[in-house]
Amino acid sequence: MEYVKKLIRDVPDFPKKGIVFKDITPLLGDAKAFARVIGAFAERIEGKGITKIVAIESRGFIFGAALALKMGLGFVPVRKPGKLPYQTVRESYALEYGTDAIEMHRDAVQPGERVALVDDLLATGGTLAACVKLVKRVGGDPIVSLLVVELSFLNGRQKLEGHEVHTLITF
Ligand code: AMP
Repeated sequence: MEYVKKLIRDVPDFPKKGIVFKDITPLLGDAKAFARVIGAFAERIEGKGITKIVAIESRGFIFGAALALKMGLGFVPVRKPGKLPYQTVRESYALEYGTDAIEMHRDAVQPGERVALVDDLLATGGTLAACVKLVKRVGGDPIVSLLVVELSFLNGRQKLEGHEVHTLITF
């Protein structure tokens, strides 16, 4: 993963002052690195009886869709409010200032389905925790979460106690 780590670029003060944005586009542009990430994700869900990949807008879609195709699994998009056309379930979560929300189609995951969640990065964990709740709300079983990057100093895992989380690269 050292090879992949070198392809994650720090962009200071994006999207606002004080944030160091972890830019994964150099990783995506490198076929070997992209394949290694998807291969590592595949290894971590092998044998777990997963039936759906649920991925979070928008960079989660890139990794989630590639993984779903590789594993022969269905893909479910979780989006910001107002983007999904059919009936949705919504979960709000706290940000540093204010709140945000995510939505999923209410029939996208069937009761009892075993789900792997995918996103690019774990920061405070609020987004992923809300996504885990969405899956549970429709009766799905959130078995495991897969993320490329973890910003461990933000302690995102604290919000996800009791839930299996795998990250490939830690800063
Ligand atoms: P959080 O809910 O705080 O764990 O934030 C995770 C979500 O915000 C993920 O979907 C990330 O894509 C995005 N995100 C948060 N912090 C960063 C960062 N420093 N660089 C890139 N993306 C980030």
